[in-house]
Amino acid sequence: MAKDEKSRAVSPEIVTATSFHTHPDLIGFSANDLTSDAPYFYTRWSNPTVAALEEKLAQLEGGEAGLCFASGMAAISAVFLTQLAAGDHLILSEVCYAGVAELAIDILPKFGIAVSPVDTGDPAEVAAAVRPETRLIHVETPANPILKLTDIAAMSAIAKSCGAKLSVDSTLATPLATRPLALGADFVIHSLSKYLCGHGDAIGGAIVGDAAALMPLRKEALIHHGACLSPFAAWLILRGLETLEARMMVHERNAGVVARFLESHPRVEKTYWPGMASHPQHDLARRQMANFSGMVTFSVGDGLDLARHIADSAATFSYAVSLGKTKSLIFYTATADIVSSSYRLQPKALARYEDWIGPGAFRVSVGLEDPVLLIDELGRFLDKV
Ligand SMILES: *Cc1c(COP(=O)(O)O)cnc(C)c1O
Repeated sequence: MAKDEKSRAVSPEIVTATSFHTHPDLIGFSANDLTSDAPYFYTRWSNPTVAALEEKLAQLEGGEAGLCFASGMAAISAVFLTQLAAGDHLILSEVCYAGVAELAIDILPKFGIAVSPVDTGDPAEVAAAVRPETRLIHVETPANPILKLTDIAAMSAIAKSCGAKLSVDSTLATPLATRPLALGADFVIHSLSKYLCGHGDAIGGAIVGDAAALMPLRKEALIHHGACLSPFAAWLILRGLETLEARMMVHERNAGVVARFLESHPRVEKTYWPGMASHPQHDLARRQMANFSGMVTFSVGDGLDLARHIADSAATFSYAVSLGKTKSLIFYTATADIVSSSYRLQPKALARYEDWIGPGAFRVSVGLEDPVLLIDELGRFLDKV
């Protein structure tokens, strides 16, 4: 056995090279000539550390191949801009990551793409929104920030019946909870910046799907649009993935403690966690989620004063955006702000949103701390205001 075979590294290795020694018979200069067995050439095309992450993500999602991007938004843009062209129609969850809503509503129409935001929690609404030009249905489940769920199998049936593709943003669920490809999705998308990295210190995104479907995405969206993942970020995310299962078990357990505490607190009007029987879609959660994840959303009515108090006095929590980190994070979104700046909800959809969460939502990303510390601090926040 050669020395390098006997002494393989037990942790992922990092290759930061931007280019690789190659041979004129092995690879062409144009991305259009790229073949699946081409050697490494230039790191925006592919890179060994990023490839190790892509392989690991494909395994976790039960897909053939993975494709990494510089951020979750880059991965979603890649799906939108490769699957849709002028004259096509997109159906989108009316409540989803605010950046995705803004991309779809503000930017895609500039390219001649029609967009219908609908309540994807109701398959009949989705079926009614289908047009002859519908090419893509994009859903997020659980949806940021109100934790409304979408039935992926039902979406897949609608997509198949109209010849559209289905993409699922599974960032809040993680592959520990849900395998969208097995439920009929064509693409599963993750912001790697959240639970998959898990430590809040790297930004990345990924798509997992069939190898034949991802090859054109690699050429068009990765190589030409250019938002490739840095090998350093890939390495941090690979390291984070080593503890994904253990972390998700603790996130879920702690979220259950926090959700039950909030639900029983007299100041709290609504509490949502998919693992709790009071979640309006708890039956769907039980069918579709093998882990209920660590996100809890609650409402106290108008929560701006409470948000200010939390920002000033939090110790165990941080008042911060993002989610899926070891440390607990809490953030307030006023309904009036998000529905006008991001979702542009029409009266019926606005009434649905307000009915779900009222004038504002506190989104809690429950971390890995001792849950007693978490409910003690939440109790102090709530008793003060
Ligand atoms: C954070 C997030 C995104 C965007 O990911 P970035 O890595 O921040 O670009 C997309 N979808 C969901 C559900 C998210 O939580």
